[in-house]
Amino acid sequence: MRKNPEKGRVLKHLFTPIRIRDIEVKNRIAWAPMGVSFTFEGAQRAFTGDSLSQRYVEFNLARARGGVGLILLSGKGFTRMEVPLPEDIIERHVKEFGNLVNQIHAEGVKVGIQISHSGRQLEGEREGYTPVAASALPCPATKTMPRELTTDEVEELIERHIQGAVNVRRAGFDIAEVKACHGYLLSGFLSPHSNKRTDRFGGDTVQRATIVLDIIKGIKKRVPDILISCRFNGADHFEGGLTLEDAKILAPLFQEAGADILNITASVYGAYPVIVPPFHAPHGCFIHLAAGVKETVSIPVIAVGRIKDPWLAEDVLKDGQCDMVAFGRALWVDPELPIKALQGQFEDIRPCIGCNQGCEDRIRGMGTTCLVNPALGREKETEITPAPKPKKVMVVGGGPGGMETAHVAALRGHHVTLYEEKNAVGGQWTLATMPPDKQEFKEVIDYLFRQLNKLKVKIELGKKVTGATIEKEKPDALIVATGATPLIPSIPGVQQPNVVTAWDILSGKAQPGDNILVLGGSGVGLETAHFLATQGKKVTVVEMLQYFASDMGPTVRWHLRHKLNDLGVQLLRSTKVKQIVDKQIVVERDGKEGTLGSFDTVVLAAGAQPRNELGEEAKTKVKEVYVIGDAAEPRKGLNAIREGFEVGLKI
Ligand code: SF4
Repeated sequence: MRKNPEKGRVLKHLFTPIRIRDIEVKNRIAWAPMGVSFTFEGAQRAFTGDSLSQRYVEFNLARARGGVGLILLSGKGFTRMEVPLPEDIIERHVKEFGNLVNQIHAEGVKVGIQISHSGRQLEGEREGYTPVAASALPCPATKTMPRELTTDEVEELIERHIQGAVNVRRAGFDIAEVKACHGYLLSGFLSPHSNKRTDRFGGDTVQRATIVLDIIKGIKKRVPDILISCRFNGADHFEGGLTLEDAKILAPLFQEAGADILNITASVYGAYPVIVPPFHAPHGCFIHLAAGVKETVSIPVIAVGRIKDPWLAEDVLKDGQCDMVAFGRALWVDPELPIKALQGQFEDIRPCIGCNQGCEDRIRGMGTTCLVNPALGREKETEITPAPKPKKVMVVGGGPGGMETAHVAALRGHHVTLYEEKNAVGGQWTLATMPPDKQEFKEVIDYLFRQLNKLKVKIELGKKVTGATIEKEKPDALIVATGATPLIPSIPGVQQPNVVTAWDILSGKAQPGDNILVLGGSGVGLETAHFLATQGKKVTVVEMLQYFASDMGPTVRWHLRHKLNDLGVQLLRSTKVKQIVDKQIVVERDGKEGTLGSFDTVVLAAGAQPRNELGEEAKTKVKEVYVIGDAAEPRKGLNAIREGFEVGLKI
């Protein structure tokens, strides 16, 4: 995020209203459609008759109040086309979504919703749905084998999409977006890779677009007063798939058929960069595709793809590469990004770091959340309100968890002091910023540090807190956020001088040789391997389990595995290290013992253990003691910040 644009420069283009046929949107910021786990009350099924949840309503209203110009919702319940819903459920959804639309409109924001069908990109059979597609070809990622739709079924689906738009209009939406992107059903028809049909819905680029064109034309005829958006890929990024050249042929056809705006995204399941690109991908990675499409049409074009910096958005609008910019995750992290950008409060924008930990890759059992914004999806229930009685609060540990507690506690009016034994805040998080592509993670610390300073939180750096400190300070509440220490496995030879920890490597404490063995193929192990391989080291990683980086989300792991592969890092799975003998490693594989080597350095990435002596000691000294993050149990940064946030709300 550029915090200091040239003096006097303003976000003129970003905040210029835009006319889309007969509606005016107050600025050029759209909120990109992304699914969440809490749309409905109840079972949260894919195509559901459940009622819209209040959480989902509040989630959307927070973004509407934050100043976005246009909200585009992903396909939900009555706009999902996989399984026809009974009339009574459709009517209920029209009413419930209509209420949401009215509330969004009351904030001066326009709103659209996608009409969508997953096609073959829905794993297995669910809720009476058997995956179908243009052709009976398996999804490259999920391996789901769909059934090929008959010609009559395609005609029926066209009609169902048109009827979907009728219902969308009845609910009061401004825009019906035809979802023809990301490898879902309609996208599969557009792609030469997945559409091998010989009826009127297959053939060359134009013929493959027939289903989408018929849907757009049908909506135009049946619901002339709704705006039609078509979201499609500027490129599938998959061999044999849709290319930008194809997209440039399709765009004018969609315009001619009646589309009022084009929303250009990219990629399909199993493609690189993935649909929701994590930090490995460059900012604005799909903008050039929108720019290519824009050359071929006169209707507005929306660009998307890891855009979080208002100044990047301003520049691409100024350069005429697109007409609107869709922010996705950036608005999940900070719903008020548009208002803050408009008011020049760039330093206060909570940054999305592209980790995908809470959104796209979701921690199992946690539902949609966000590493940097723990209030996501619970905006109302976690509202920050003044504490009934200000307390003296000691936070020990200057990592993101401790900083988040200090931040929320200070916002609530508590008197907070943050202690960090090192001479800078960040804690273990600083190590996480060291591997290639991960420098952006530092923005979380920078943001929290700025907020603590603004709130005049006292920050004591280079100060180790002991029981005596606590006795002297006598806090009302103590938060122990002291993190973890590396776990040293009990393997013979582990005390040799050429054995170091991943933390030693990432902190620069240890200088490794040229030929390195990383012991442990978790996320930390692979990221440390990446760090070393980019320095020209020859790296081998051994993992005793069958899978590497099972603690990482799939999108991040996918990118990292590709990068390690390109760098020639050797990954040995199901390999147990039995002993380290000088430069040789004795391993067991498939029940047989063998030797690997020779290695100059062995790097341990075998996990971590909590560091919580202070918490135990403080129990008898302080009334309220909270142990959070890795100090309680080593896990993800997401857990640490979330726990810090919740403790900040509680004290
Ligand atoms: Fe961004 Fe990470 Fe939050 Fe997802 S979880 S919105 S990538 S900060």
